[in-house]
Amino acid sequence: MTNQVLQHQPSQYILPTYARYPVTFTKGQGCRLWDANGKEYIDFMSGIGVTSIGHAHPAWVQAISTQAQNLAHVSNLFHTEPGAKLAHKLCEISNMAGVFFSNSGAEANEGLIKTARKYSRDKYGSDRATIITLEGSFHGRTITTLTATGQDKFHNHFHPFTPGFRYVKPGDIQALEAQGNDVCALLIETIQGEGGVMPLDTEYVHAAAQLCKERDWLLLVDEVQTGIGRTGKWFGYQHFNISPDAISFAKGIAGGLPFGGFLVADKLNATLGPGDHGSTYGGNPICAAAALVVLEIVEPLLQQVTANGEYICDKINAMNLPQVTDIRGKGLMLGLKIKDQPPAEINVKLLDSGLAALTAGTDILRFLPPLIIEKKDIDMGLKILHNVLGAA
Ligand SMILES: *Cc1c(COP(=O)(O)O)cnc(C)c1O
Repeated sequence: MTNQVLQHQPSQYILPTYARYPVTFTKGQGCRLWDANGKEYIDFMSGIGVTSIGHAHPAWVQAISTQAQNLAHVSNLFHTEPGAKLAHKLCEISNMAGVFFSNSGAEANEGLIKTARKYSRDKYGSDRATIITLEGSFHGRTITTLTATGQDKFHNHFHPFTPGFRYVKPGDIQALEAQGNDVCALLIETIQGEGGVMPLDTEYVHAAAQLCKERDWLLLVDEVQTGIGRTGKWFGYQHFNISPDAISFAKGIAGGLPFGGFLVADKLNATLGPGDHGSTYGGNPICAAAALVVLEIVEPLLQQVTANGEYICDKINAMNLPQVTDIRGKGLMLGLKIKDQPPAEINVKLLDSGLAALTAGTDILRFLPPLIIEKKDIDMGLKILHNVLGAA
């Protein structure tokens, strides 16, 4: 115990914007993590959906090292090989026409918002700039993406916000139909991640997509958490048979390096021209080289992601855990609705027993394991879950 206190080094110099767990990780390998005391953990969080091919994957380490030796950065005033290859591959798997690279999810969503507003302004003039988002959504922490985020608790301290956003209830198609002619776009997550692993209803998504078509509202899908194989398809929207006008991605794309971007369909390929948007680091060759490896490794795993997600749900259902009242999500993006105890408290117990998991919303225990996870690690993680929750 003394050892643990000594080995865990909280920093008074880092702003306390996160309620951090009392563990300091020092090493990761595949789906395992180790803390400063050498204690081992099963990873059911992937650093919030980021380390999608696990920790220290040899091909990823190799690609990053090689790229660092050759060229780390030149800026977007030039093309680079990894950036060009990655752009091609991303357009292929999303059926989109062009990509812009950024460094994070919030920045990716800023790009969606700017693209939507410019498209509408070019075509209809300046009075049509409102973007509709959904209650319970999460789109990032910049002032504008916070504004887009449809959760009041994020709107407490930082007024004034960016004008031009309105929120509607997910599932309420009438509320969408009632919107006026100042609207340029609808922004959705197909499964709300931070909001509590809430999948959107299929009929609602179809009706919303249809309405977007009729009114020439752009359909924007935030795939920052659901994208890059997390739900068992490359992108969450691909479960719905819809064609968004643009999508954002980030978290899982580069296996642990900060990276993101947005992809646009043909219709928006010429909306942003030289000087309209930018990002100094965006498309950085090291991150792009890492992302190419991630896509190559994830591609043959998509079916396994679906199967493993179902496997986890079946096993948890069979445990009949009294505190778990619902399991939802798709692929390896799963939420367990918990009653009678804050999920963060459960997470502390799980950590104690060697399982690293996440929470979402106020009552959801969230699992985002690495997409490469195999049954033996799933079984070990679920055994820990059973020990901790079964004994409660
Ligand atoms: C995490 C997340 C973001 C924000 O991404 P950052 O990289 O933290 O800026 C935006 N949208 C969704 C759906 C997310 O899950």
